[in-house]
Amino acid sequence: STILTDKNDFQDEDNKKSSKNKKSGGFQAMGLSQPVLKGIQKRGYKIPTPIQRRTIPVILEGRDVVAMAKTGSGKTACFLIPLLEKLKQRQIKSSGPRALILSPTRELAIQTFKFIKELGKFHDLKCILVLGGDSMDSQFSAIHQHPDVVVATPGRFLHVCMEMDLKLSSIQYIVFDEADRLFEMGFGEQLNETIRRLPESRQTVMFSATLPKLLVDFAKAGLSDPVLIRLDVES
Ligand code: ADP
Ligand code: MG
Repeated sequence: STILTDKNDFQDEDNKKSSKNKKSGGFQAMGLSQPVLKGIQKRGYKIPTPIQRRTIPVILEGRDVVAMAKTGSGKTACFLIPLLEKLKQRQIKSSGPRALILSPTRELAIQTFKFIKELGKFHDLKCILVLGGDSMDSQFSAIHQHPDVVVATPGRFLHVCMEMDLKLSSIQYIVFDEADRLFEMGFGEQLNETIRRLPESRQTVMFSATLPKLLVDFAKAGLSDPVLIRLDVES
């Protein structure tokens, strides 16, 4: 993987992809499977937002992505649509969770969890919440149910991993949602420790409303040759 020296060193897909996707337009043009398209329809989305149009194809290709766009621009679906496409259906025999979504707050995690339920209505994926403030025992038993997806706050997730000696070698896809807030909330150390426990072969995506230097450094260390997609600046 490439060591980035500056945020300008991120590969920018700008000119390559955007004009083509603008023309082809909808979710149908993204090559999504029927269960995913039906979930999108169920949720009531007709056309992708600009950040969805830019990020979904790149994440589907398997690239690590750092995406920056303002609050309300539709970032949740940017990482959930590829998640559903990648995980497809439930795998009870898998050795552990295949996807992990880290959120800065309980409220956001719960919202994301509900979002998966709705968008993933035509998938039978098992999704659990691991949140600070909930009982550890209920989280141990939730993990024992072999979830495909874990939505968690970072401190409790790491605590549960350590208590259960949970191996994260099964994680294929990890999302840092609202990454700027994850750091503002003081989760930096837990995020670095979580990254250390993940397998090299995973896909990592990071979504944020802002991109402070701290996040650029984190992305350099934890992501592999990431594509930067930012809709905040005119280029
Ligand atoms: P962000 O994470 O960027 O703040 P959200 O993912 O929370 O944004 O989405 C903001 C709102 O826009 C939500 O109510 C969501 O359901 C809605 N939304 C997202 N994508 C679309 C779309 N393609 N069409 C219509 N509404 C959308
Ligand atoms: Mg969001």
